Amino acid sequence: MIEFDHVSKRYGEGIALSDFSCVVPTAKITVVMGLSGSGKTTLIRMVNKMVTPSSGSVRIDGVDVATLDGVTLRRSIGYVMQEVGLLPHKTVLENVTLIARIAGQSAETARRNAIDMLTMVGIGNALFARFPQQLSGGQQQRVGVARALATKPNILLMDEPFGAVDPIVREDLQDELCRIQRDLGLTIMFVTHDRGEALKIADQLVVLSDGGYIEQAGPPTQLRAKPANDFVRKLLGL
Ligand code: ADP
Ligand code: MG
Repeated sequence: MIEFDHVSKRYGEGIALSDFSCVVPTAKITVVMGLSGSGKTTLIRMVNKMVTPSSGSVRIDGVDVATLDGVTLRRSIGYVMQEVGLLPHKTVLENVTLIARIAGQSAETARRNAIDMLTMVGIGNALFARFPQQLSGGQQQRVGVARALATKPNILLMDEPFGAVDPIVREDLQDELCRIQRDLGLTIMFVTHDRGEALKIADQLVVLSDGGYIEQAGPPTQLRAKPANDFVRKLLGL
């Protein structure tokens, strides 16, 4: 469980997040949806200490992340972004294995985990020796997910991961992600501004307006049936 407890973030004069509180339950997909600039990236990066709150705290299973070492924390949490960020001069298999090695796995374990995770995300061994630029956008994103899972994290943070992928491939990736989440019991915090994606994959959907203000949170069925206000109605296209 991830808890945001009265979290604020200021950048100079600007306020990215103001008094945000929310619980991200274990082994579920929580989708944070909001327009550009509503504080989604700031929020997700507070979980792995890429961003430090100006006030308030973020806790993982009751432990304030402020008390944890950032590097160790980041190795224990999967993180996937829109710009996949694979190393261009390493092969697909090397990209995934390397992360597991850095996290302390033996060469043999890292390689086995890398192969398992690549297989799970639908990357066959015919692609293992390719370089990232020899893959389609969808394939690169799959490798990005495999890489994030190679360290066997319980938590996966995803910041608009499928934004650059075309719609049909995107739907496949969403299906695969839901399957993997169930198989591994992952706690996923997923940021998107795509309403179709949000309504499809969320167990819990959190709709933000500027400053990380929660307009409504709950299961998608509930938001659909009873949108709290015009903002939610409009954002969800209801
Ligand atoms: P989102 O991911 O929803 O688009 P962000 O979390 O990236 O939103 O940004 C929220 C607000 O904080 C925006 O107004 C943005 O300009 C501002 N912001 C984000 N990061 C920085 C930064 N490093 N320095 C200054 N302002 C920032
Ligand atoms: Mg963002």
